[in-house]
Amino acid sequence: MSSLPSHAQVVIIGGGIVGCSTAYHLTKLGITDVLVLERKQLTSGTTWHAAGLLRSALASYNLTRLATYTLDLYARLEAETGQATGVVQPGSISIATNKERWEELLRGVGMLHSFDVAAEPISPNEAQQKWPLMNVDDVVGAVWYPRDGKCNPIDTCMALARGARMSGARIIENAKVTRVLVENGRAIGVETPEGVVYAEKVVNCAGIWSRDVGLQVGVDVPLQACEHFYVVTDPMDGMHPDLPVMRDMDHCAYYKEDAGKLLIGAFEPVAKPWAVDGIPEDFAFGELPEDYEHLAPILDDALRRVPSLGKVGIRKFFNGPESFTVDGRYVLGPAPDLKNFFVAAGFNSIGIQSGGGAGLALAHWVMHGEPPFDLWEVDVARFFPHQNAKSFLVPRVSESLGLLYAMHWPFRQYESSRGVRTSPLHARIVAAGAGFGEVAGYERPNWFGAPGETPNYVYSYGRQNWFEASRKEHMAVRERVGLFDQSCFAKFEVKGPDALRLLNRVSCNDVEVAPGRVVYTQWLNTKGGIEADLTVMRRREDNFLVITAVGSQLHDRRHLERYIDPSDRVAVVDVSSGYAMLGLMGPRAREVMQVLTSADLSTTAFPFGASREIELAGMPVRATRITYVGELGYEILVVTGYALHVYDALVTAGEPHGLKLAGYHAMNSLRIEKAYRHWGHDITPDDTPIEAGLGFCIAWDKAGGFIGRDALLGRRGKQSRRRLVQFLLEDPEALLYHDEPIWRDGKRVGRITSGMFGHTLGAAVGLGYADLGEPAPAEEFIKGRYEIEIAGRRIGAKASLKPLYDPQSARVRG
Ligand SMILES: Cc1cc2nc3c(=O)[nH]c(=O)nc-3n(C[C@H](O)[C@H](O)[C@H](O)COP(=O)(O)OP(=O)(O)OC[C@H]3O[C@@H](n4cnc5c(N)ncnc54)[C@H](O)[C@@H]3O)c2cc1C
Repeated sequence: MSSLPSHAQVVIIGGGIVGCSTAYHLTKLGITDVLVLERKQLTSGTTWHAAGLLRSALASYNLTRLATYTLDLYARLEAETGQATGVVQPGSISIATNKERWEELLRGVGMLHSFDVAAEPISPNEAQQKWPLMNVDDVVGAVWYPRDGKCNPIDTCMALARGARMSGARIIENAKVTRVLVENGRAIGVETPEGVVYAEKVVNCAGIWSRDVGLQVGVDVPLQACEHFYVVTDPMDGMHPDLPVMRDMDHCAYYKEDAGKLLIGAFEPVAKPWAVDGIPEDFAFGELPEDYEHLAPILDDALRRVPSLGKVGIRKFFNGPESFTVDGRYVLGPAPDLKNFFVAAGFNSIGIQSGGGAGLALAHWVMHGEPPFDLWEVDVARFFPHQNAKSFLVPRVSESLGLLYAMHWPFRQYESSRGVRTSPLHARIVAAGAGFGEVAGYERPNWFGAPGETPNYVYSYGRQNWFEASRKEHMAVRERVGLFDQSCFAKFEVKGPDALRLLNRVSCNDVEVAPGRVVYTQWLNTKGGIEADLTVMRRREDNFLVITAVGSQLHDRRHLERYIDPSDRVAVVDVSSGYAMLGLMGPRAREVMQVLTSADLSTTAFPFGASREIELAGMPVRATRITYVGELGYEILVVTGYALHVYDALVTAGEPHGLKLAGYHAMNSLRIEKAYRHWGHDITPDDTPIEAGLGFCIAWDKAGGFIGRDALLGRRGKQSRRRLVQFLLEDPEALLYHDEPIWRDGKRVGRITSGMFGHTLGAAVGLGYADLGEPAPAEEFIKGRYEIEIAGRRIGAKASLKPLYDPQSARVRG
């Protein structure tokens, strides 16, 4: 080990592609006092044995931006550093062998076009011309991705390391970090056998070891190593460096030319977790035992796909560990509960193709406290402690690895590690026949099946088996009354003399309202982008309740706590499990409530936006006149211990009014008809309230301003070039999910951010941003002929800025 400094501005744990890329990018941003500590040798973890596939696109716009950046970076690193990376870009082909996969690929082409990524549907014959050894007898169609490529992972990692060193970073091998040092809730350095290094920031890039590094300081990095396989044949005729990569996802395999041989990689349906009880201390450049039996079904299929494989031997059966996560996405960003500690790990077999971009994004996050753009889908704050338990993690990663190549069905649910986090009403909801979906480990009723029906999903790109049940729930809410179990929602109590000051600093709306009122607001980042979308109830002068989505529970709390000044006299307490929450929604909601309470519920006494403590069925509850479905309704917060009693009373009282239990699919179709935005889809850290049509939530002139105001001020009262628009399809059969391209007068102007069938409006409804290229008056956005592209077909759509359902909100306020 070369001599260890006593201090570095940033210490990076791990010298794989991700650690080296983070170091490289930090130095590019001007942070040159960077120290990478690698326990063995650079690349000795997972990086050295990667197949080196590089895709120009991933499943979302921002991850695609990072992947595309990665490709471009690796292609130019040799010129900058003198170290070759072996990048070639012969393109890639994905084939479909059934019509469902073909629809998936075609929908993907539309999505990629809207990301400005080249992708072209081709016929089976054209696919065979590009990949002559392929048998295309069963191929329905294929897609050609001309920019995709491959690299040499070791060389690429070395090029990043050299680039980082050239700009001042130090890299020390054989320097294992044995402990992260913590003081007052902050990481302050690391300990190694050779001594301590103090640091302002510590970054965990320890690959399959990252979970252990995190655990030691109470940071959840839920990843687990799984065995990951490829085989390499003997030299084979027809193999040349320009041969595209070929993916046959229906048969769990990819094919790549490798120095005149063929490399066949596998994403088998049920994976094999490895080293569940701990990684051997000396594991470096390690290989795991061959397992022909495990891979046999995939190799049999490979023989059918590439018959000439029958004429060559297998030179190498490779099995190496790679980290997989509970949702198949990587883990990036600042730990929610430990300041100055960052994570970049869990790359689910795309660490090489994501490494360049992930390093760039993390360096930005370390330097500026915010990512360069919305990276919520990979944010470390999306995880909960239960997901880091081996009992959850191990079965889940066995499933999540295979899902990377399985059909990406809309609404697809995990089958493993279910039922761990439930509402206090769970037993009642199960008994009522709910079909469940999981968000952040929480079981939520997505729909209720008919009596005697087994409420399991039957997936397709068309109307799925729950469509009719959900329609009935939707209509019950519109015409009568529905009851939603919203207990999963996160709840934070914010209290103390400075609670108002903190909340008003963070909220763009004014939460300085009279006690007994609720405020709908966004929390913005310094660029004016929407970091959270939630409600704030003022209970007393110095006591507030923040209600937000379950998925963003830790994310939103991290955001709020970031802005607590040391002098603030305020406490933020997560009381999510302390309360159940029921949504009683629909024109008869008031009548049902009134059966159970003596409180005056008339609109004069209890108007929209009121939030009161009342007695309901003899129990104290907090009822709030607010809705996410566009009807008269109440969100009822009830202490967990009283929840069953209140639920039962509501169900009984609702019976004569035709009350129906309703699930989250109905909530989604209802909210989208009313054009209520959903954070993470329609509104993200990359969208401002102005373009999202939420200008009514901006309290521009409130005393003290708010975070994000300065960034937005220049746009106040001005025209936007981009706006959120609601679309109703002309064809009642077509279905929208998300990322379908939006066309206006024959020009692509954006993509759908969320979509669902609107049962009241009679066709699929979508929200999405239209970008007109230059600032335009609002009415301009709904002029012109709009079409939405679904799987290559353009379908006419009506565009609207006002909600197509109840544009005046008469029902909500009635
Ligand atoms: C068979 C196979 C094929 C693959 N093919 C591809 C592909 O085609 N394309 C693609 O994009 N990805 C592929 N991958 C995935 C890719 O290899 C990984 O995602 C990537 O290498 C992860 O990089 P990393 O830097 O996070 O981890 P690593 O490369 O494992 O680096 C982490 C480093 O941290 C060090 N470390 C751990 N603990 C400590 C400590 N306490 N102190 C100091 N150092 C520590 C380790 O020694 C290690 O070197 C493949 C993986 C496998 C197994």
